[in-house]
Amino acid sequence: MESMKFKYQCTDCGKEYGTSSLMYLCPSCSAGNDPSTPPKGVLKTLYDYGEIGKAISGFTDLKKNGFIQLLPIESIKSFPPLRIGDTPLYQLAELDSQKLSYSVCLKDDSQNPTWSFKDRASALVSAYARENRLETIIAASTGNAGSSLAGICASQRQKAVIIVPETAPQAKLTQIIMYGAAIVPVKGTYDEAFDLSVKATKEFGWYNRNTAFNPLTIEGKKTVSFEIYEQLNCRVPDRIFIPAGDGVITSGVYKGFEDLLLLKITDRMPVIVAVQSEKSDNLVRNISRDDFMVIPSSTLADSISVNVPRNFFMTRNFIQKYKGETLTVSDEEILNASKLLAGNTGLFAEPAAAAAFAGFLSYRKNDRIPADSLNVVLLTGSGLKDLRSVSSLLKMPSSIYPSIDNLMRVLQ
Ligand SMILES: [Zn+2]
Repeated sequence: MESMKFKYQCTDCGKEYGTSSLMYLCPSCSAGNDPSTPPKGVLKTLYDYGEIGKAISGFTDLKKNGFIQLLPIESIKSFPPLRIGDTPLYQLAELDSQKLSYSVCLKDDSQNPTWSFKDRASALVSAYARENRLETIIAASTGNAGSSLAGICASQRQKAVIIVPETAPQAKLTQIIMYGAAIVPVKGTYDEAFDLSVKATKEFGWYNRNTAFNPLTIEGKKTVSFEIYEQLNCRVPDRIFIPAGDGVITSGVYKGFEDLLLLKITDRMPVIVAVQSEKSDNLVRNISRDDFMVIPSSTLADSISVNVPRNFFMTRNFIQKYKGETLTVSDEEILNASKLLAGNTGLFAEPAAAAAFAGFLSYRKNDRIPADSLNVVLLTGSGLKDLRSVSSLLKMPSSIYPSIDNLMRVLQ
């Protein structure tokens, strides 16, 4: 069914498409795509901002209707019956007993149904599938997107097929199986799993949730921006630290704030700081290069371990247009940030999410955060999803015979 509500625009050639049949990449730009470089032809979802602007009196109206005017579905009733988003935003008042001269808020998206940010994208894809009678959804994933899609599909009684690298963390694989999805571990990288899932989509006609390949994944993620804006009492933060792998979360957050800008609800954009691991920096390292060069990733932060960022070109456009910033941190900094965050706040983040916090710590150390500025760190997944990566931090004391004397001795 052709929806008049939204349309797609190709990131690379700018051509616009209706929504009757096309669901993935721009056909002309993607024709020459090659698995060793980022895909061309990723689609951006656009709305009639003039019409929406006339129909609403402000942000409260959008919120009241569940932001349906800015979503590519017909009804919010198509969403899963789980609570997606509406995650807490916590103020970090001090760090290691030092008061901060600026404001830092932690957006805890581990509080989604499957404990990761990916539920925002899965929920929208699932809702769209429900409205368009698409019964089976397939995804390639490093773990979180797959466990997310599996859980969301379970809640909507939809079929999910998940292709993952066999090295994905045990907790994420366990989730996928417990949610009842068909799980297919492959001997290969995420990038190879991705390509296999695209072939399966063509072969079997299943709906594909792959990040960026399906434009709704970007659109689903933007809702976090609406929430941050609202939770900051309708203020745009100065800076948001985001973990980056494929670039879809970075683009999603930009897209949410850009929607508000186009509706003239806001008059500026936040500075977005895309943070990658030094051992998986294919997005940030290539932003200012003409030719794309891959260095195989080896970071312990599996959720952002990506060789070929699937939303590279859109993310680069956003970062260049809105003067975003990029940063790499070492895996050691990521682990230390994870421990510091957990010990200071009670929030245990997985390494990818801790990378964003490590980015904030790096800015803090280098005095790059102005006094009185308003900053947000996006925490995208729970630490319980990947215990292996923090195992090097776990120094378990030897056990004692239970007596007060022994207890006093070991606590000294
Ligand atoms: Zn195109």
